Parts: sequence; structure tokens; C-alpha cells
Amino acid sequence: MNPLFTSVKPKKFLGQHFLKDLSIAERIANSYTYHLGTRNLLEIGPGTGVLTQFLAKNPHICFKAIEIDSESVAFLKAQGYLQESQIIEGDFLKYKPSEIFSEPFGIIGNFPYNIASQILFTVFENRNLILEVVCMLQKEVAQRINASPGKKANGVLSIFLQSFYEVEYLFTVPSCVFLPPPKVESAVIRLRRNAKQSYNCSEKQFITIVKKAFQQRRKILRNALKELVTNPEILSHSLFDCRAEQLNVEDFENLTNLIYLS
Ligand code: SAH
Repeated sequence: MNPLFTSVKPKKFLGQHFLKDLSIAERIANSYTYHLGTRNLLEIGPGTGVLTQFLAKNPHICFKAIEIDSESVAFLKAQGYLQESQIIEGDFLKYKPSEIFSEPFGIIGNFPYNIASQILFTVFENRNLILEVVCMLQKEVAQRINASPGKKANGVLSIFLQSFYEVEYLFTVPSCVFLPPPKVESAVIRLRRNAKQSYNCSEKQFITIVKKAFQQRRKILRNALKELVTNPEILSHSLFDCRAEQLNVEDFENLTNLIYLS
């Protein structure tokens, strides 16, 4: 059966917007590049399988999917898109990624938009296991993740992800190709693990500084971070004249060392 004509009713509370356009689904599937040889691939939220059908039977891929909706899972099994061993019925956010694949893997999916950022924070935390991500999410979030320093859209998630991934904005997808159409436009992005092993500063402190800096993103850093600075002499450094969105990963590393090591 064509996955577009199913009895599965889209459920709003699960962020279900089923993609109707098969050529877009195929384009998303073909955007996965086996980065660093990663053949293990997890689809998050296969729904009725519009993307799954291009991936699950590919002999080059060791494929699994995780889906929270039992009705979709039953449909995927009944259609023969997935074998029992390939489908996990459950909530991705409740799993440790290493419980799904113990070896490095990639992630693909038209993400449920309400949890897209949480999925990507999990990716950041598991960057040595998750080497590539191809995903569709709200266009605005996609632009934020892809934003370069100096752009207003830059934020905590972009700094975190850009530390360990090459981020690419692949293409925009209009709402009319979904059932039901979401209120916002969508976009497909790709993340590929870069060579960076660790921060040049304490990661915990880096995270504290980045979060704090963006909490008050309109303020210059001298004001936004003043509670964290114990040595007032460092405040004359030019980095403190900037706002959070003007800094790149390296600047934040330097700022972290300045604050905690001086
Ligand atoms: N891939 C399909 C469906 C996208 S909609 C398509 O392109 O048409 C998002 C899908 O994610 C839905 O099937 C929804 O049930 C599923 N989902 C929502 N929250 C989830 C979670 N926490 N873990 C796993 N799947 C989830």
C-alpha cells in the first residue's frame, strides 16, 4: 500500500504531520552520506513509512526505527516495511542512544517538531556515537542551528552543535506537502561529525557560559556574565564588549578560560 493512503489518523499531540510528497521523501533519504563509513541508521518517527520505504531494505544500511505511536508501528509491520527486529516502539527521548546501537550510527527523520531541539541536544551529548544526522524540522530552528556568528539567529544549540558537527542547510519544504499541513515552513539539514575531540576548556564550564550568555542575549557580555566573573580585571578584555550572538565556538572557549582560569 502507498504509505500516503493509510488509515493512520495524524495525532496532533505526537507532532504527526505526514509527508505526502514521495520525491521529497526520496531526496531526504538520499541526503544521508554514510559519513565516516556509518552504515547503522536510526529513523526517529517513521510514522506511516514514507521515508522508511527508501531506507529499510537498502542492503548498505543496517536500519532501525523508533516510533512512539502504536498505531503507526502496527501499520509499518502490517505493510512489511520493517521486520520485528528493526522497529522499537517507544519514546526516543527515554532511551540512551547506546541502547539502540552500540556502534556509531546516523540518525534520519522528519522529526516531531515539538521535540526537535531535545533530540538535537541528545545528539550533542552523544556526538562520538552519532556521526551524522539528516533531519527535517521547523525552518526557523534549522536556520538557527545553521546560523553563523554575528547573526541574530545564533543560539545555544547552534554553538553546541557547530562545535562538533559541520552543519548544512539542505533545502526548504513548504507546508502544503504535509497532511495535515503544519503552521510553519520546514527545512532539511545535515550534521556531520567534524574532527574536534574536545573543548580547549572545561566542557561543563563552557556549557554554563554559553547558556548564561544567551539567556540575556541583548546585553553585552560584561553585563550578561558579571555574576560568573570573580576577577574583575579580566572585564577589560574585548570579548566582553560583544553580545553572545557575535561569538563563535573558539571565542566561547577563550571566554571560558578567561573567566575560570584567570
Ligand atoms: N516520518 C513520517 C512522520 C513524521 S511526523 C513522515 O515523514 O511522514 C513525526 C513522527 O514522530 C510521528 O510518526 C510521531 O508519532 C513520531 N514521534 C513523536 N514523538 C516521538 C518520540 N518521542 N519518539 C519517537 N517517535 C516519536
